[in-house]
Amino acid sequence: MEKICLLDLEGTLIENEFLVELASLNGSAQRVSEITEFAMSGRICLEDAIKERIGLIKGITKTDAECLLLKTKIRDGAFEFVRRLNETGWRVVVATNGFMFFAKPICDELGIREVYANELVFENGEIVSATISVDKGNVAEKFSGKGNVLVAVGDGANDVAMFRHASVSFAFGNRGEVAEHADFSVSDFFSLAGILDSGFVVASSDSVPSGLNGKVLRFESRADLERRLPVASALVVRSQKIDALLIGMAPNLKVIIRQGVGTDNIDVQAASARGIETLNTPLSAPSVAELTIGFMVNASRRIPCMDSEMKRGVWRERSEVMGSELFGKKIGVVGLGRIGSIVARICHAMGLHVSYYDPFVEETSYEKKFSLNELLSCSDIITFHVPLAPETTHLLNAENAWLVKRGAIVINTSRGKVIAKGALDVLLGSGVASVVCLDVHYEEPADYSAFREFENLILTPHIGGNTFEAQERMASRVKEILSQRGFG
Ligand code: NAD
Repeated sequence: MEKICLLDLEGTLIENEFLVELASLNGSAQRVSEITEFAMSGRICLEDAIKERIGLIKGITKTDAECLLLKTKIRDGAFEFVRRLNETGWRVVVATNGFMFFAKPICDELGIREVYANELVFENGEIVSATISVDKGNVAEKFSGKGNVLVAVGDGANDVAMFRHASVSFAFGNRGEVAEHADFSVSDFFSLAGILDSGFVVASSDSVPSGLNGKVLRFESRADLERRLPVASALVVRSQKIDALLIGMAPNLKVIIRQGVGTDNIDVQAASARGIETLNTPLSAPSVAELTIGFMVNASRRIPCMDSEMKRGVWRERSEVMGSELFGKKIGVVGLGRIGSIVARICHAMGLHVSYYDPFVEETSYEKKFSLNELLSCSDIITFHVPLAPETTHLLNAENAWLVKRGAIVINTSRGKVIAKGALDVLLGSGVASVVCLDVHYEEPADYSAFREFENLILTPHIGGNTFEAQERMASRVKEILSQRGFG
């Protein structure tokens, strides 16, 4: 694992833009700037732009180019920044689309030994052409991955290619179009050093810890996450799987926060072996409980089926569409925790008789404690609210599914693997259940296209906790945890 700081030269470490300065010697500076603008806005391709710009500096003498080199203006703070990186074990690399003729002596002065630059070709003391070999994206890609920390800093459109491979990227100066593609914008080396010194929060793009002093780096894919992890001090995820391999890529990680309920998507053992805390934000219980009630009402009155038929122009005779009341029915709650308790309370208020199976909860005032088998065989509605653990995996399976009361409604909003595939075959295929409602699925994302004709199956794509209110509560809690740990 290495720490690499990949720096652009012109406009970043130094104020000069040598191509424009060379062109100004023969009056074509404005044309060079115009072509650069065209390339940045995508009106001409980068390759054509380079060719045309080189054409404009042909004939300029080596002596004139050497005079320009003497006028190099190294940015304030650049010397100190590079020295600190060198002293603290960073590999400092310059990648420039400018020329080695200028880059080499400047980098020597700055203490940077590794330089990627194009070559000016002189003949008889005059510029005749240039060899273009630097592709900043390729240079960055060479250093990225392998658990490396890759920091990229640049000010121009051609630096965006290296930003894409970096653990963290910085747009230097205030050029809006470049800043859009970088993680942070900085205007000097002192603030850049300050940001690098502090820990970063790496957060999935669907989590919401915004407003944290701007220290948040987002990821969308596993590849994104892999390049970010080497700089992560805190990691915020929703349902993304965080395995031991990923945890191993984050040497500075202190805390993993799940913006959601449970930590079954995280290898908690691998994390705690490294002393990394794993936390979750179980604040979506009302949302999941309300979805469960929604499933009950929809299932007992066959609302999804009626809805889709009417939209296809079908008007059924009322005698054909008899539903059932929930009032007076028996509901069995499997797992009487935060969500199960709210479901029980609402159902009690709706006039249902509530029983539950939960080895860890004593019998309460209105809920009756049953064994799982008792609960399955006497409940009109069975709803699962247990965490996923070895003991709850396949809690309902192909054997005990036969105990489910004929015509019962079975609801799962906990985790897909709590109900074995074989149990679903019994419930749906053998007609044991009248309706099965699933928000969570054995594999996610799930494909139920083969079940198109199953009126007795009501599905949602794991949306139990997906309400504005629950997400807001969980995001606030994530922020609270992060600020307690110094990231706020
Ligand atoms: P909780 O920890 O408050 O409650 C879980 C209950 O299950 C506890 O009372 C516990 O004693 C009980 N339990 C544990 N092992 C059991 C077993 N072997 N048999 C029976 N009961 C057992 O959790 P919660 O906040 O109520 O959430 C329950 C589950 O719902 C979560 O673990 C999560 O998997 C799921 N969930 C799903 C969504 C969604 O989007 N659909 C959202 C949030 C939570």
